[in-house]
Amino acid sequence: MTENTIKVLLSDERKEKPQDDSLQFGKVFTDHMFVMDYMEGKGWHNPQIIPYQPITLDPACMVFHYGQTVFEGMKAYRTKDNRIVLFRPEKNFERLNQSNDRMCIPQFDEELALEGLKRLIEIEKDWVPSAPGTSLYIRPFIIATEPFLGVSASDRYKFMIILSPVGAYYKGGINPVKITVENQYVRSVKGGTGTAKTGGNYSASLKAQELAAKNGSSQVLWLDALEKKYVEEVGAMNIFFKINGEVITPMLNGSILPGVTRNSIIELLKHWNIPVSERRISIEEVFEASEKGQLEEVFGTGTAAVISPVGGLVWGDKEIVVNGNQTGELSLKLYNTLTGIQNGDIEDPFNWVQEVGMHTYA
Ligand SMILES: *Cc1c(COP(=O)(O)O)cnc(C)c1O
Repeated sequence: MTENTIKVLLSDERKEKPQDDSLQFGKVFTDHMFVMDYMEGKGWHNPQIIPYQPITLDPACMVFHYGQTVFEGMKAYRTKDNRIVLFRPEKNFERLNQSNDRMCIPQFDEELALEGLKRLIEIEKDWVPSAPGTSLYIRPFIIATEPFLGVSASDRYKFMIILSPVGAYYKGGINPVKITVENQYVRSVKGGTGTAKTGGNYSASLKAQELAAKNGSSQVLWLDALEKKYVEEVGAMNIFFKINGEVITPMLNGSILPGVTRNSIIELLKHWNIPVSERRISIEEVFEASEKGQLEEVFGTGTAAVISPVGGLVWGDKEIVVNGNQTGELSLKLYNTLTGIQNGDIEDPFNWVQEVGMHTYA
C-alpha cells in the first residue's frame, strides 16, 4: 500500500435521511467524511474515508487563533436517469490550492482529492437527493492544526471533505432580491485575501450583512476598498450587469473571488455570441445606466444559487428598481441552461459534467 492509497472504514451506523422536501442548507451531514493529514517532512499522507465524526483538537491549534484555513463549495447532482454528476470539480480543487498558496498551506494532489471525493460520494450515493433543485453540497476544507501560539505558518494540517444534502435554493421559483451598496465596510482589498476562499473574509463580512438585513436587503454589494467606486461582488457571489445589450462583470483585479459559476457564465455567453466584457464598472455607471433606461438586468452568480437576479439596488439615499423587479430573460436563460447541464437535462457542449461511479480505482 502506498502513502496515497485511500483507506476506507465504513460506519456501522446509518443515519436517517431527511425527506427531499424538508431539506435546508448545510444542517445535515452524511455518514462518512474524507480526511487526510499533513506533517512537515512527511507531506500529505494517510488519505481515508471514515465515519462522520467530531474531531478532537488541541485548543492551541493555530486555526483557532489566526485563522489559517481554506475551503471550497461545490455540488453533486442526481440526473433524471439516476446518474450522479459533479460540475467542473477540478476547478474547485485547483482553486483550493490557489487559496492554499495565499494562506501558506502546502499544495495537495488535486487528482487524489478528486478521487477521494468521488469514492466518498459513491459510498454516500443514497444521500444525493432527487427532487428538482436539490443537490448534495460538498465542503472540502483545510485547517492548521499545530498547537502553537506564534504567528507563523503551521507545520501540520488536516484536509477534510464533508457532504450535506441541500434543498432547492428557490422554493417558489427564481426570485429577484434587493441589495444594499455598502459604503462603509469593505470585503477585501487588492493585496489582501479576497481572491482566496478563507474563513476570515466571511467573518469580516458579517457586520455589513447584518446592517443590510436591517435595511430590508438580502445582500451587500461590495465596492472596491480604495475608492469605494467600483463594483466588486454581491455577498459571496460574483456580479453581472446587462447594459444596453452588453453583459459586464468586474474583471478579476486581485480582490475578487474567481467564481467557477462566473467563468461558466462568461463561456456560455461567448458560446451564444452575446457581447460580454470583464472590466471595471463603477456604481455610478450602473445608476446612470438605470436613469437612461439602459440597465436591463443585474444578477449574482455562485454555486449555491447559480443565478440570483437583483431586483433593486439601494446606494445611500438613491434607490433603483431593475427590470421592474422581475427576473430578466437572459438571467432566466442562463439559470435554465446551467442547471439543465448540471442535471443532465440538456447537452453539455463544454464537457463540464463528470460522472461519479464510472471509475475503477487502483
Ligand atoms: C465562493 C464564492 C463565489 C462564487 O464562486 P463559485 O465558484 O461560483 O461558487 C463568489 N464570491 C465569493 C466571495 C465566494 O466566496
